[in-house]
Amino acid sequence: MKNSFSSLARNELLQQLEAEKYDLLAIGGGVTGAGIALDSAVRGMKVALIEMQDFAAGTSSRSTKLVHGGLRYLKQGEIGLVREVGRERAIVYENARHIVTPEWMLMPIIKGGTYGKLMASIGIYVYDWLAGVKKEERRKMLSKEETLAKEPLLRKDGLIGGGYYVEYRTDDARLTIEILKAAVQRGATAINYVKAENFLYDINRKIYGVKAKDLHSGREITIQASKIVNAAGPWVDTLRELDGSKQGKRLHLTKGVHLVVDQSRFPLRQAVYFDTPDKRMVFAIPRDGKTYIGTTDTDYDGNLEHPRMTTEDRDYILKCANSMFPSIALKPEDVESSWAGLRPLIHEDGKSPSELSRKDEIFISDSGLITIAGGKLTGYRKMAERIVDLVASQLSDETGRIYPPCSTDKVTLAGGDFGGSFDRFVDEKVRYAKQLGVPEQAASRWVLRYGTNINKVFELMEKEETKQTAESLQLEPVVLAGLMYGIQEEMVTRPADFINRRSSAVNFDHQRAQAWVRPVVVYMSQLFEWDESQIAQFEEEANQALRFAKEAVQ
Ligand SMILES: Cc1cc2nc3c(=O)[nH]c(=O)nc-3n(C[C@H](O)[C@H](O)[C@H](O)COP(=O)(O)OP(=O)(O)OC[C@H]3O[C@@H](n4cnc5c(N)ncnc54)[C@H](O)[C@@H]3O)c2cc1C
Repeated sequence: MKNSFSSLARNELLQQLEAEKYDLLAIGGGVTGAGIALDSAVRGMKVALIEMQDFAAGTSSRSTKLVHGGLRYLKQGEIGLVREVGRERAIVYENARHIVTPEWMLMPIIKGGTYGKLMASIGIYVYDWLAGVKKEERRKMLSKEETLAKEPLLRKDGLIGGGYYVEYRTDDARLTIEILKAAVQRGATAINYVKAENFLYDINRKIYGVKAKDLHSGREITIQASKIVNAAGPWVDTLRELDGSKQGKRLHLTKGVHLVVDQSRFPLRQAVYFDTPDKRMVFAIPRDGKTYIGTTDTDYDGNLEHPRMTTEDRDYILKCANSMFPSIALKPEDVESSWAGLRPLIHEDGKSPSELSRKDEIFISDSGLITIAGGKLTGYRKMAERIVDLVASQLSDETGRIYPPCSTDKVTLAGGDFGGSFDRFVDEKVRYAKQLGVPEQAASRWVLRYGTNINKVFELMEKEETKQTAESLQLEPVVLAGLMYGIQEEMVTRPADFINRRSSAVNFDHQRAQAWVRPVVVYMSQLFEWDESQIAQFEEEANQALRFAKEAVQ
């Protein structure tokens, strides 16, 4: 049964959450919770998911946005992790081609760098082999001249050659949303801005539900479920504490920052994974007319909801970029935007942030709360499989009901059902978007953002009423149509949800996003009948997202 994923249906969804008894309740609407919702719905479980902010507002919109195995982890001996996550790349790609794009990565080999020529050659070969990469996509080793031909901005002194291998680029927040939409299509109930505040226990102190609050309306509800999964990312220990079960292993949060500059200031042709002066490695990746660079990896104990770029983070990344690409001479004022994310890693005594394992782990408390921590965006499907296998086996023991094994490797995500040729679909839709007046450069971004659902955005855009409203709001019709689609089918509840996570404009179209705030607030306030204080709160929230992305703190 298809459920609603419209923010216009929030009241009905809240009622439904109170009335039903679920097989599984996932707390946390990042990629981990989303994957669990999809897998359990596909296996026929009755599943609900609650997210206290917007979906993906935690770490899942703040990553390097790569679907990758992590070449670096090979050096740390994490063979199992690299094999599993490396193999997942192709599956994530096949199931969501609109938001996952193959990206050839260039790793310059520098005298005295992390990898010598032989180590790079063997390392990337093993990386490809573990991931089962197709023959035509296996790594190539390049001479100095070939390396410079691929990326002329690279420094020439000390450059020995390069490794050239395939990775995939994605939009992490949209990947999370497309997984959730696919889950909702299969009967899951998912809602944002609903926070799990307390657990409910029976007389044997076994957990059977949560007391939750809709932070959007203030309404309090109880939700009952046979199994409760804590997929709260950086907050998993907060929930374990609430359950009185934070014993043994605990989280170790590290912060990673990325910054965005315009291609006119850093005209990078090619994604590059490069050595830093302090013997780390960072990425520089071209996307949507911008280049983004990162990441840092530092211990963190600040505010979990709003980690920020500090001047130190910014200056460090600029220094790294200027050292590998000396001709660009980037300055702080070139930074258009940034984001900072928290890695929810498992603490290991004596290890520095970069040495901590990226493997996921599952903890089961005496009350029955199931927690999943650690992991990578790329491995979301396998993490979900492990959790849902566990839940299925517990439910089978308790009820006798048998659930089918995981089959999400064959489940296309929302917007990814292309049937015939993907390239032909994109070409046709980009042409059509141009006929509708969408500027050439923006057209392919809109088409790839929504995949096959772009047809619904076009339908909305072609309505006379939409055109008139867009004109009166002074908003481009395609933006208004994207907002309308987001409200109806992607649970856009507040303006920041749209300008930040549904459209990526805060990070990759910062200036335009500033101009969108007022018209988006006006449109939504009329539709949802917000009062003055709500309008002020939500407008400030959107402006804050823009400010936090732009400004570095001390
Ligand atoms: C800088 C950086 C770069 C990275 N780069 C990559 C990469 O390129 N590729 C890759 O594969 N991985 C990468 N990762 C790792 C990846 O981003 C994370 O593993 C993944 O996003 C974690 O997702 P999650 O769902 O577990 O956590 P989150 O996305 O944080 O989701 C948890 C959610 O739980 C919600 N929540 C918390 N408490 C409650 C409550 N009480 N009630 C309701 N909801 C609650 C939060 O609001 C949050 O949205 C990177 C991570 C970082 C930090």
